[in-house]
Amino acid sequence: MEIRDLAIIGGGPAGLTAGLYAARAALNTVLFERGMPGGQAASTERIENYPGFPEGIDGPELAIKMSEQAQRFGCEIIYSDVDKLERQEKGFKITYGENELLAKAVILATGAKPKFLGVKGEKEFHGRGVSYCATCDGAFFRDGTLAVIGGGDAAVEEAIFLTKFAAKVYIVHRRGELRAAKILQQRAFDNPKIELVWHSVLEEVKGGQKVESVLLKDVRTGEKKEIAVDGVFIYVGTEANSNLLKDLVELDANGYVKAQEDTATGVPGLYVAGDLRKKPLRQVVTAVADGAVAVAQVEKYLSSLE
Ligand code: NAP
Repeated sequence: MEIRDLAIIGGGPAGLTAGLYAARAALNTVLFERGMPGGQAASTERIENYPGFPEGIDGPELAIKMSEQAQRFGCEIIYSDVDKLERQEKGFKITYGENELLAKAVILATGAKPKFLGVKGEKEFHGRGVSYCATCDGAFFRDGTLAVIGGGDAAVEEAIFLTKFAAKVYIVHRRGELRAAKILQQRAFDNPKIELVWHSVLEEVKGGQKVESVLLKDVRTGEKKEIAVDGVFIYVGTEANSNLLKDLVELDANGYVKAQEDTATGVPGLYVAGDLRKKPLRQVVTAVADGAVAVAQVEKYLSSLE
C-alpha cells in the first residue's frame, strides 16, 4: 500500500493551509477534497474580515489562491471523497473509492455544514425554493420576496447579499436581538429592502410546484401568520462533518471534536483543524491558524516515531 507522511482530509481554509505548511516542511503530503476547494468560504460572496484584503475578497477567489499556494509548494490534491478512516498499527488506512493508502499522520479538516430546521415542507421544497446557499441560488430570485431564517452572521450577511436580487427580504429571528456582528446588524437595519420579523420561528414552508409562502409563529403569543415568499434561505447554524471520526474520537452533540488549541485529538497522529474543532470562533482566520498549528504538531509526532 502507498505510504504518505500526512493525509489531510478536507480542502477548506484549514486543510489548504495545512497543505501549504506541510509541503513547505517537505512532508510527503496528500490532501483529499471531494468538491471545489475552499469549503464554506468558497460559497461566501465576499469575505471582509480576512486580513490582507482591505477591500475584501470574493470567497471563491480566496479559495483558489489558497489552493494554488498549497500546490505551488508541492501539496498534491486528490479530488475524491474519503470513504473510510481506520487506525492501524503503522498509521491510518484511508479508503477512497477503490483505492487505499496509509498515512502516518492525519489532519481532519472536513468543516461543517448547514443545519436543517426539520420543519414541515423544508425537505420537500429543498431545491424548489428552500436553500442553504445564497451565493449558489440567490440569482434565481430576481425581484422576488424572500425569507431568511436565523439571526447569526451567516443569516444577516446572506440576507444583505440577497437584496442584490430580491425586491424584499424578511429576516425571521426567534429572539428580539440579532446574534450577528454589530456592523452586519447595522447594514441590515439600514437596508430598505430588509424587514426584521422578531420573536418568530418558521413553522412550515408551503407551496405547490415551488415555494409560495412561509407560516411563522410568534414565540411570545403563539400567534401564526403566513407571508407570501418565493424562496426561503435557512441559516440556523452548522453541524460538523465528522462522520469519519465517529468511532475514533469523542464528539459533542453537534458532532464537533473536543480538541484543544493544539488540534490534538488524543489519538496519536490524528489532528483536527478548522470548523470541525469545538472552538469559540469559526472564521477563515481561525481555520487557517488551526491548519498551521496542526502541521507543527504532525512534525513533532513524526519525529517522535523516528
Ligand atoms: P450561528 O452563529 O450559530 O447562528 C445561528 C442563528 O440561528 C442564531 O441566530 C440562532 O438563534 C438561530 N437558530 C438556531 N437554531 C434555531 C432554530 N431551531 N430556530 C430558529 N432559529 C435558530 O450560525 P451561523 O450564522 O451559521 O454562523 C456559524 C459560524 O460561522 C459562526 O461562528 C459565525 O460567526 C461564522 N460566520 C461568520 C461570518 C462573518 O464573520 N462574516 C459569516 C458567516 C458565518 P439565537 O441567536 O437565538 O441562538
